[in-house]
Amino acid sequence: MVLAQLGGSISRAIQQMSNATIIDEKVLNECLNEITRALLQADVQFKLVREMQTNIKKIVNLDDLAAGHNKRRIIQQAIFNELCKMLDPGKPSFTPKKGKPSVIMFVGLQGSGKTTTCTKYAYYHQKKGWKPALVCADTFRAGAFDQLKQNATKAKIPFYGSYTESDPVRIAVEGVETFKKENCDLIIVDTSGRHKQEAALFEEMRQVSEATKPDLVIFVMDSSIGQAAFDQAQAFKQSVSVGAVIVTKMDGHAKGGGALSAVAATKSPVIFIGTGEHMDEFEVFDVKPFVSRLLG
Ligand code: GDP
Repeated sequence: MVLAQLGGSISRAIQQMSNATIIDEKVLNECLNEITRALLQADVQFKLVREMQTNIKKIVNLDDLAAGHNKRRIIQQAIFNELCKMLDPGKPSFTPKKGKPSVIMFVGLQGSGKTTTCTKYAYYHQKKGWKPALVCADTFRAGAFDQLKQNATKAKIPFYGSYTESDPVRIAVEGVETFKKENCDLIIVDTSGRHKQEAALFEEMRQVSEATKPDLVIFVMDSSIGQAAFDQAQAFKQSVSVGAVIVTKMDGHAKGGGALSAVAATKSPVIFIGTGEHMDEFEVFDVKPFVSRLLG
């Protein structure tokens, strides 16, 4: 189910409810059940959906709604607020400051779009006058350095890596030191992502984090991983202090649910979304417009 379909299903459920002559508990329950189904199909975690349902029922106390009040509007608003709440962990992520060196470490599974997203993030800031730099601390995947180098060269962003050094911690530290000396204000460290949640990957990630002391760790997640989103995000959060999330591949058959799960699991906000393979297919994530789109 793509985002637009989810929005369609939710607004249809609300529409159906408002077509009823009397909005009583039964009608409200039917509407909430429809919405629950739509959210589950969009990969929102079951626990989150149940919580949302309970909260809405608490807010929308039908007996308290005086006759003449627009019940549809009130219910719609409650659903909107609940979805916004699910996407808002309550505290903003670390915000780098232009001109002051910040180290940003990217983590995620292989294939999630991590390396592409590192360049997109660098390019986005470069266009706004920052001095970003890319460090390839992925010594595990053959070709990782070449890929980063190619992307960085295309975007005219300085990069650091090695074809011979096999210790990711060493490369990360050297890269960060080099770019601090060059007065770069956004030093982006790309780490290795393996195809599954191997213990060695988490240990390596922890060591790179300990050695480079990043100001922010960004967890990159492929939006198409479905219901696995919550557990995956939580596993990363338990190893390194994830402070923000970027959800990739929101174009095509993207589902919105993974974003909600990632926020819940990491207690960190989504800051950007990836909407294509190109460098500029990258958008700042904004909760309210995203939820408005969900609700159609
Ligand atoms: P990594 O293994 O996590 O570093 O993943 P890569 O950066 O190599 O990306 C894996 C694939 O996903 C590549 O083919 C990218 O072009 C593609 N990709 C990354 N981000 C997006 C996105 O937002 N949308 C789409 N459609 N493809 C993406």
